[in-house]
Amino acid sequence: MQALMMNTPLMISSILKHAEKNFPQVEMVSVTVDNPRHRQNFKTFARRSRQLANVLESLGAKFGDRIGTLAWNDYRHMELYYAVSGAGMICHTINPRLFPEQVAYIINHAEDKILFVDALVMPLIEALKEHLPKVETVVVLTDKAHMPESSLPNVLCYEELLEAQSDDYDWPEFDENTASGMCYTSGTTGNPKGVVYSHRSTLLHALSGALPDVTGASNLQTTLPVVPMFHVNAWGAPYAALMVGTKLVLPGPKMADGETLTDLMVSEEVTVTSGVPTIWMALLDYLESSNKTIPSLERVSVGGAACPRSIIERFRDQHNCTVVQGWGMTETSPLGTVFALKKGMEDYSTEQITDLQCLQGRGVFGIEMCIVDENNEELPWDGVASGALKVRGNWVAKGYYGLSDEPGSEDCPVDEKGWFQTGDVAAITPEGYLQITDRTKDVIKSGGEWISSIEIENAAVNHPDIAEAAVIGRYHPKWTERPLLIVVMQEGKSLSSEAVSDFLKDKLHKMAMPDGVEFIDELPHTATGKINKLALRETYQDYKFPAA
Ligand code: AMP
Repeated sequence: MQALMMNTPLMISSILKHAEKNFPQVEMVSVTVDNPRHRQNFKTFARRSRQLANVLESLGAKFGDRIGTLAWNDYRHMELYYAVSGAGMICHTINPRLFPEQVAYIINHAEDKILFVDALVMPLIEALKEHLPKVETVVVLTDKAHMPESSLPNVLCYEELLEAQSDDYDWPEFDENTASGMCYTSGTTGNPKGVVYSHRSTLLHALSGALPDVTGASNLQTTLPVVPMFHVNAWGAPYAALMVGTKLVLPGPKMADGETLTDLMVSEEVTVTSGVPTIWMALLDYLESSNKTIPSLERVSVGGAACPRSIIERFRDQHNCTVVQGWGMTETSPLGTVFALKKGMEDYSTEQITDLQCLQGRGVFGIEMCIVDENNEELPWDGVASGALKVRGNWVAKGYYGLSDEPGSEDCPVDEKGWFQTGDVAAITPEGYLQITDRTKDVIKSGGEWISSIEIENAAVNHPDIAEAAVIGRYHPKWTERPLLIVVMQEGKSLSSEAVSDFLKDKLHKMAMPDGVEFIDELPHTATGKINKLALRETYQDYKFPAA
């Protein structure tokens, strides 16, 4: 028997409609290139989003078109999130900090016809113009007074476009499994891969994310997502905030600047914030050196990389603030696990609680997880056994854009049993807390951004005196991880580490330059002839970078 309940599709536009009706006066405060403190309420935001939907149609965007954004966290990017998806197009957020070749690859692969870019990103687009044959229109996210000079043929001004449009627009209803957003991950080897979110997955993710033991999002809070909106939808904050009416504070391009963040948080009375460990390290250092604190701040969500214990302790002891660590991936929208205490832990000592905060949190409803050994046999949740972490659920990717989604096939991350293979290695405690212990994939995560180890290795072995090279990520107090290059020299040859760095300088992006170079006689290899990075990571377990 079929149920007799309404089958209303889960639409992103429903969040916007709800916010406009129920929280019209809630504020969205932004730092932008053209305004150090822009303010608008959700009512104005909803009106402008409707105008933007009309702009998209006037530019010829059709249902299912990918619309690229290269922008920081601010109200115009928020408007794109809602208008693009709401009108049935796909909001494709792109990280402007990637290598230019990767940016071009991603735009071309997704076939973005229209790009909405921050004024600060225009030099990058100018530099790439020859390499973006399918881009027809570039809209700069600013007003007329701040429009940059450009040599590109079809560059338009966001505010001028908006002004010319009516705010009369009815958000269409369509299948909730329609693609709503897209985000490429470079967290895998090879070319970046496109993760495609749906209206349904985004809504369910936001609903579960707002649960009390997850983020506990509320109208009583003010949130400042430092995590970029080009990085897995700022972990869902743009949706959850409008769903429950949380005041949003968006730091624009100033996200890594301790002083701006502090000023914003203090003056806007921010209660919750989210970002990668590197950001918090910088903020804590700034607060300490300037002898400041953020009285309103209650909770700091940390993810994207393992959170050092010192961050948890410093926020607790110096700022009376709880750090909540979570684990997730671009492919998991990103919510997978989040820290929260369980009944019976109320009497835990501060140290015991900190121990738990150092783990990656426990599974959120909607995500199933398991760990398996080399034979794909499930391992117990005993806090000791560690194996490959797999997840599945309503907001987990089943394939990548343009690649086969046949389970078990080479490009498909999902195995025959329907589990997404995360590439992380983990243990799970009997209470269900996840502990990431390693990564089977070899990319390095530095300050929340991926660095390809293969790219550095390829550059190094181009030196005529270098026989073999391997790169692993090692702990760095500021960046969480930095690349360590391990080199085997050709017989009878020798080089200094400075000479190796000099050689790499014009071949690698600054961020990818190894922080340390080590020389060994032979690299460990696996049975299939691959460099055994697990063994290398063990050998260099306690390695300290010279400058760290
Ligand atoms: P991304 O797709 O860029 O968000 O990166 C996802 C990857 O970041 C995961 O597969 C992990 O390797 C890593 N990661 C995310 N959160 C954490 C965490 N809390 N602790 C350790 N590693 C993490």
